Amino acid sequence: MSSIGVTSRLTRYQQSILEFLEKLESPISAQDLYVQLRSSHQRLGLATVYRALEVLKLRGLVQSRTSVKGESQYSLVQQHQHHVVCLQCGKSIPVEACPVCELETQLRQSLSFKIYYHTLEFFGLCAPCQLEVPQSLE
Ligand SMILES: [Zn+2]
Ligand SMILES: [Zn+2]
Repeated sequence: MSSIGVTSRLTRYQQSILEFLEKLESPISAQDLYVQLRSSHQRLGLATVYRALEVLKLRGLVQSRTSVKGESQYSLVQQHQHHVVCLQCGKSIPVEACPVCELETQLRQSLSFKIYYHTLEFFGLCAPCQLEVPQSLE
């Protein structure tokens, strides 16, 4: 699958966002992305960042996941990674294996669906946080 045709039709800001996300190792919120990009794009507005991210999502280039705090975190679709997330401290541990990829291939074929990405996350308490939970909550 070639993305050259897709990326050539992007606006300058959309390109900048893609290039910025390529350099990141972990997902970023639209707000943080805006702050980072403002240093090189003085006239960029937060609404433009949100709009650009929506367009990039619809083109299958960017994906979002919701953090424990309820904030959307954006990353490139190529960064296929699942996590185990602690609800208390927000720590997320990457999961190496993906049991969903095979199912995705099946769905692509049986539904003729153009699937861009899937998400899979596990939520709970990490080892240190399990010790901190008061007895009264159990
Ligand atoms: Zn924790
Ligand atoms: Zn997966």
